[in-house]
Amino acid sequence: MADGAEARAALARAKARLDRLDWYPAPVRLRGVRLLSVPWLFRLPWLRRFDGYATWTAILLRGAVAEASEDLVTHELCHVWQMQHHPLSMPLSYLWRGYADNPYEVQARRAAAVSAPARPGGG
Ligand SMILES: [Zn+2]
Repeated sequence: MADGAEARAALARAKARLDRLDWYPAPVRLRGVRLLSVPWLFRLPWLRRFDGYATWTAILLRGAVAEASEDLVTHELCHVWQMQHHPLSMPLSYLWRGYADNPYEVQARRAAAVSAPARPGGG
């Protein structure tokens, strides 16, 4: 796939999963949202433990776009969705709520879990 097409396809798959959830008044918008591999960024001390990081307009990945799991992209796109509705309170919440028990973090984990496609033969 051409550079960029891979990213758009991955974003579209994640959006299709989030579109099954009605947690916000409007579905996540992909317009202006980019999916990028930025391995060097994840060498910074405060990002070292993450594989992905979301900003208002970009999802940054430690690994290659082609290798990103759909669950990871869905989780990060959920953060973009949160910021489309809470552009300031979402990112700021990490300052006073921390990471692990942050409600936005819990919601993003849930988004990836409950929207996961049924695994054939899974029990
Ligand atoms: Zn997260």
